[in-house]
Amino acid sequence: LLAIIALTGNSQKDSLTTRKIFNTALLSNQIYEDLGVLCKESPGRLCGSDNAAKAINLLSGMLKDAGADTVYLQECMVRKWDRGKIEKCLVSSKSGGTFETDICALGGSVSTPEKGITAQVIELKNFDDLAKAGKEKINGKIVFFNQPLNPEHYYTFNAYGEFAKLRVYGAKEASAYGAVAVIVRSMTLKTDNQPHTGIMRYKDAAVQIPGAAISTVDADRLSLSLKNDSALTVSLTLDCKELPEVPSYNVIAEIKGSEFPDEYIVAGGHTDAWDNGEGAHDDGAGCVQSINILRIFKQAEIKPRHTLRIIMFMDEEVDQRGAKKYAESVSQKKEKHILALESDRGGYTPHGFSMEISKELYEKVIQWKKHFLMYGVWFFEIGGSGVDVGPLAKLGIPCMGLVTDSQRYFDIQHAPSDTFDKVNKRELQLGSAAMATMIWFFDQYFAQ
Ligand SMILES: [Zn+2]
Repeated sequence: LLAIIALTGNSQKDSLTTRKIFNTALLSNQIYEDLGVLCKESPGRLCGSDNAAKAINLLSGMLKDAGADTVYLQECMVRKWDRGKIEKCLVSSKSGGTFETDICALGGSVSTPEKGITAQVIELKNFDDLAKAGKEKINGKIVFFNQPLNPEHYYTFNAYGEFAKLRVYGAKEASAYGAVAVIVRSMTLKTDNQPHTGIMRYKDAAVQIPGAAISTVDADRLSLSLKNDSALTVSLTLDCKELPEVPSYNVIAEIKGSEFPDEYIVAGGHTDAWDNGEGAHDDGAGCVQSINILRIFKQAEIKPRHTLRIIMFMDEEVDQRGAKKYAESVSQKKEKHILALESDRGGYTPHGFSMEISKELYEKVIQWKKHFLMYGVWFFEIGGSGVDVGPLAKLGIPCMGLVTDSQRYFDIQHAPSDTFDKVNKRELQLGSAAMATMIWFFDQYFAQ
């Protein structure tokens, strides 16, 4: 178990080091340049894709350049889903004529027949509505889940979390009532023409029906059209498909610890990104912020006492194979981990950390908060950490997720609009500095 070596430490040294870490981060543009390269040279790097393989190479190079002692790959098998080229959704109504909507296939969806699926539409809000409508009203129709996210949540991740299941399990649930396809309102609070993809799961569904996301503008338009003509039809055509699994890799980089080389502090983000955008905020930002921790330590001439391990996880979006593989290896090798920190909430202004740690440890960590406050980093709360470090939390390892200003994240998440130009350089640098500082505190004051 964790024990404090020197809890109070030297407060002056703590604040000077924090200053040094933030200065170093704010004076270097490399993190921003790295993100630009990743976004432009390997956009849409969905697991199993050519661009994912390219990203693995790019990130390995960046980790070496940032000052890693060693960079190596850890193999894992990943699913390979291909979006195809056809994503078409035509609405035909007596009163409103015919119009095309902005849609995209949901990740993991089966295709439609070549000619598409043409059917009437039933608009519902949730899974309870399925039961209320019953087989009679749903059979043979396309189910349109038109549930806007609730804007009352301050933390937009909570708004997303509330209804994301409509996207993930909508097809599985609706198929049980005889639906022939589902169209899901994009999981965003923004009103625009961007369809937002994301994973869907069939689980044990007897029939696998296609699933697509529709932009919020067109969801409103379709809903209005249905009010005027409930017998309108939609023709949906998708040619996505699932290919055999292929090998892929986590990228792991290390700086050896000077005093505890066999004890690890982990930071990371995920290499893969949805295939319809550049994956700038999700999660290119988390990758380059984690890489930049090595650069900060090198440039600020801070020698870690424990081994720093920076991980570019593969396949967060589809099946988390990289995260599972890493945790499996940690548990097999019985590697001691002091902390695992993830950044996967966009490269926005850092607010702090959501901590999946014991109350006892929290009482220690909270004492460092005063050093973060002047950099706008104030959120120190017990809560979930993140999807990629999640399997490590299950092993009892203290885990954290960087918490950012979430107001704009779901404007662009999983959409073509998640591009490099949406990332602010200073916000990105500050997030990396906040991570590096938390890591420094753990490195200074903890040993197992
Ligand atoms: Zn992500």
